[in-house]
Amino acid sequence: TGSLVWFRRDLRSYDHAALHHALAARGRVHAVFVFDPALLDPLPRADRRVEFIRHSLAALDAELRAAGGGLIVRHGNPVDEIPTLARELGVTAVHTNTDYEPSAIARDAAVAHALTDAGIGWHSWVDQVIFAPGQVLTGDGRPFTVFTPFRTAWLRRLAAEPARPYPIDLTGRLAAPPAQAAVPSLAELGFETVDGPDGAGTSAARRLLADFLYRIDDYHEARDFPAQPGTSRLSVHLRFGTISVRELVALAADRAAAGSTGAESWLSELVWREFYSQLLAHHPRVATEAFQPGYSRIEWAFGEQADLQFEAWCAGRTGYPLVDAGMRQLNRTGYLHNRLRMVTASFLVKDLGIDWRRGEAYFARQLLDFDLASNNGGWQWTASTGCDAQPYFRIFSPVRQSQRFDPTGAFIRSFVPELAGLDDRSIHAPWLLRTSVLAAAGVRLGQDYPTPLVDHATARQLTLERFASTRTLR
Ligand code: FAD
Repeated sequence: TGSLVWFRRDLRSYDHAALHHALAARGRVHAVFVFDPALLDPLPRADRRVEFIRHSLAALDAELRAAGGGLIVRHGNPVDEIPTLARELGVTAVHTNTDYEPSAIARDAAVAHALTDAGIGWHSWVDQVIFAPGQVLTGDGRPFTVFTPFRTAWLRRLAAEPARPYPIDLTGRLAAPPAQAAVPSLAELGFETVDGPDGAGTSAARRLLADFLYRIDDYHEARDFPAQPGTSRLSVHLRFGTISVRELVALAADRAAAGSTGAESWLSELVWREFYSQLLAHHPRVATEAFQPGYSRIEWAFGEQADLQFEAWCAGRTGYPLVDAGMRQLNRTGYLHNRLRMVTASFLVKDLGIDWRRGEAYFARQLLDFDLASNNGGWQWTASTGCDAQPYFRIFSPVRQSQRFDPTGAFIRSFVPELAGLDDRSIHAPWLLRTSVLAAAGVRLGQDYPTPLVDHATARQLTLERFASTRTLR
């Protein structure tokens, strides 16, 4: 008898669908996490995500131990590890929370198959999102490909079925803790420290949420300014489930119903997350191709010059201060403000003419909150290749974006110190300044800080032609 809960992107012990359902069944509940070498081995040895997972697992293990249980940690292919462990423990069922990424769907199908062959039950619950792909459909039963009607239908369903937390009472229900010290250290996993444990686990998520709740009413006004603490910074916790999306949606919906425009706007962002999750689940091909087939045939820039420009973009050395500040924030912290995800992505695609998939892959390596569905959705939106994309002829001006969203240059100064001596108006486009002004600010253009890789007006024209030419191909 008893059940095994397999933790993956849900590293918490409260409001947890799989844990709740395992506790509702008879018998003791065991908990496991599997480190998959096929995922870990290719990573660089300093990897923020592995570190985040490791520290969050240690916190989860402590929570389970306080209730008389503990986390079993295995290393190997889950398709072998989960059925083997289930047999060793003699459980009758394995519970988990559904992961909607194509590779996870394939892996889970194989695990389910092996368990069923062994006469063990497999239960996969909705937990990562409020409504699973397929639960919010158009009037004629089709998946939505445009955000606004999806949000309307999603909110309607939420009103009918409000998000409620799953009650969890662990008292006296967990199987005895595993004999071995459960969670390996980062060094034992073969990785190095980057950030330390402070930002990981449910306690860090709670601190961020508590702080954000003071600011949520201003979210709609502050969210676009990277120098301001306008957003929640909860993305990594949503990614690894160290916070419950039901809790966040319930909070936001309550505040929105009470008249908070900020909360309403924030709820909308959580709906974008669900929109992209269902989009990837229904159209897995978007992971590698443009949603709009004609745009798969765009001729992107390639060759040595494109490679050098791509490297300069990655390093934050394009000569456009806000773009560079964003890329340096990404490289240094693993986080990038949403406005700057759009500005930097747009610059790569629309100013350098480089294939959005190269940028997407770079973000995937660097972002602590990397999520295939949201990252792909964000890139395709910005590149104008996606389902609900900005039209290709609307092209961000990197200077105008800088003047609007970092008006005093405060964000630029914090990540591009070479330009810190320039005044609030000059800092957005240093190449337009007189040599004497640059010299007075201690800036040697072309030495301390690069001249622009491209001229925006010329690049814009090339992009319009590149996209327009595909019309004939469609
Ligand atoms: P908040 O503004 O506080 O928003 C709350 C939550 O809503 C976020 O934590 C996130 O879960 C969700 N959310 C907000 N905006 C979006 C959005 N546009 N799309 C989907 N979900 C959203 N988000 C990721 O979680 N992982 C990614 O890999 C990712 N890559 C992106 C790539 C590009 C090119 C773009 C334009 C956006 C990307 N986003 C991604 C969406 C968004 O930028 C981040 O979710 C947000 O910046 C995280 O900061 P926050 O938690 O403070 O957000």
